[in-house]
Amino acid sequence: SVMLSIRVAPFGERKKQRLVVGRDITKVFHLNLIRRDFVANASHELRTPLTVITGFLETLADSALTPAGHRRPLNRMQHQAERMRSIIEDLLTLSRLEMDEQALEVHPVDVAEELEQIVADASALSSGRHQFQIEIDHELMLLGKASELRSAFSNILFNAVKHTPPGSHIQLSWSQTASGPVLTVTDDGPGIAPKHIPRLTERFYRVDKARSRESGGTGLGLAIVKHVLSRHQARLVVASEPGQGTQFSCHFPPEQGLSAAQLEHHRQA
Ligand code: ADP
Repeated sequence: SVMLSIRVAPFGERKKQRLVVGRDITKVFHLNLIRRDFVANASHELRTPLTVITGFLETLADSALTPAGHRRPLNRMQHQAERMRSIIEDLLTLSRLEMDEQALEVHPVDVAEELEQIVADASALSSGRHQFQIEIDHELMLLGKASELRSAFSNILFNAVKHTPPGSHIQLSWSQTASGPVLTVTDDGPGIAPKHIPRLTERFYRVDKARSRESGGTGLGLAIVKHVLSRHQARLVVASEPGQGTQFSCHFPPEQGLSAAQLEHHRQA
């Protein structure tokens, strides 16, 4: 079968005339499927050997027989194996998101509860180097998929920790607004130059590759965020001022927000 990307434009004097332009995108579609499956299979296949390597490294690190001079290189290897594991996990998450083409099965998600866990993990990652300010509407539930929302929100909050220097302030808020439920993460870190902003959600795009690696980044976090949000009909907005800080916000459609009271009402009905 042939897939067409079709544009219909008004044409000619009489209103009923239309110009139809068809472009065969069968090949593009097909190549995309091949890429997607390849990435999923490759990541999956890499998991097992990596687990074996990590296991042996741990045995060596724990062994009294390991010469003192080998401790440091061993440590480096463990660190790099851990990085590889994060990349593989992120690639798998991304391909799962791409493969799951069916409409999202949504449930009421207690966002406040999820955020509390995410904030706890973020402060562990920061280990006291950042100051957090948290404003969470505990009554505001969201129709969505908990596991995906968790990974999107934690990527955004962890980024604020990873990409800002010690002493930075990080503000997180989850609230109902006139345009629907919004999650924002604001930091007063280095900010992002405007030219990078449109590309942030591309796979492996990093403003500063070396620094991102150092901070344990995979370059896949915001690609995951973008996918999760689009599956939830939500929008990601990035506002940043170099030298001032950055704000990431996720805007959900109003009909996806649900107060705890409404939810209780639904349950009883
Ligand atoms: P990474 O794994 O490198 O964090 P992401 O896809 O999550 O990859 O983010 C892409 C890039 O966006 C990061 O490498 C970093 O350069 C930039 N970035 C993300 N969040 C922030 C932030 N809060 N402040 C400054 N730069 C950021």
